[in-house]
Amino acid sequence: MTLRIGVIGTGAIGKDHIRRINEVLTGGKVIAVADICEAGPKAIAEKYGVKTYKNGADLINDPEVDAIVVTTPGFAHKDPVLQAIAAGKPVFTEKPLSTTAADCKEIVNAEIAGGKHLVQVGFMRRYDKGYNQVKAMLDSGEFGVPLILHCTHRNPEVDTSYTTPMAVHDTAIHEIDVLHWLIDDEYESAQVIMPVSTKYTHSKLKDPQLMILRTKKGICIEIEVFVNCEVVCEDGVVKMPAPSTPITRKNGLLSTGIETNWKNRFIDAYDVELQDWINSAGKGEINGPTAWDGYLASMTADALVKAQTSGAIEPITTGEMPEFYAK
Ligand code: NAP
Repeated sequence: MTLRIGVIGTGAIGKDHIRRINEVLTGGKVIAVADICEAGPKAIAEKYGVKTYKNGADLINDPEVDAIVVTTPGFAHKDPVLQAIAAGKPVFTEKPLSTTAADCKEIVNAEIAGGKHLVQVGFMRRYDKGYNQVKAMLDSGEFGVPLILHCTHRNPEVDTSYTTPMAVHDTAIHEIDVLHWLIDDEYESAQVIMPVSTKYTHSKLKDPQLMILRTKKGICIEIEVFVNCEVVCEDGVVKMPAPSTPITRKNGLLSTGIETNWKNRFIDAYDVELQDWINSAGKGEINGPTAWDGYLASMTADALVKAQTSGAIEPITTGEMPEFYAK
């Protein structure tokens, strides 16, 4: 049976997910879209013959829509996610689950009250081949207990609208989710050290930043704001493989390309992520990152943003994971 999907938000990643579902993946079909601006849905309707809505709630309540994808900006995730829970329909929301920890907790509470797993958050790195290879090696126990994680992210450039807190909310948020999954642990404290800034930055962005997270088991994670990851264990080191690119020989040099576009770097992970969501949502299950993961990420991000200005080690207090989310 084909899962009939409604997409709310037809901007950059919304369009890409619609293409992915209708042209690449199997088992699902986008049959309706909603957006506050008319141009996005109109273009999608012309291409795929979908129904269009101005209001996300109307799309959610359309009886022909089985499941929802939310790709509005982060501040507009909470309402459609809560409405989907109320309608009893599976909902895949792009990260972040919501922009405040309080809103994330409201979603967690609503899902628990409904008694059914319906929410998946778009932390696609859990579906990346490299991260999965590192996780399998750590889980095998062959390398011993993880002690330190070194992660680096080197962007060729960011827009001038990119500010200091966005290094957490837009960038480190992916590491925050994937790293605790990788080592099966939760965070205890956050710290941000600001080295001298590069001459290439602007007045509203401290760049680079060194973020340090400590977990409940005492593992130290150092993130030089992120795509590569190296785990130092007591019996060995596990380094994530770089995506393969051709090696060239020219002018006496041996060279390998480096992927600098995040869309290309994680293109396979997005496909695997949404295919898994379609398969599991169709069976009434959720396999991927949960609303609780979205809440943990939000609490951790808040502590890191506080640490950016306080310079102190900020505690992260999330409380015990509700039994509802135990796998
Ligand atoms: P975008 O290009 O700005 O698209 C968002 C779209 O939603 C726009 O068409 C916007 O219309 C519309 N919109 C805004 N408020 C709405 C509402 N209340 N109801 C319906 N539509 C609404 O943003 P984007 O880059 O696609 O990002 C969307 C989300 O995906 C963000 O949460 C972002 O963090 C996430 N994202 C995740 C990844 C990843 O790696 N997982 C990558 C990129 C983005 P207007 O333009 O008229 O405001």
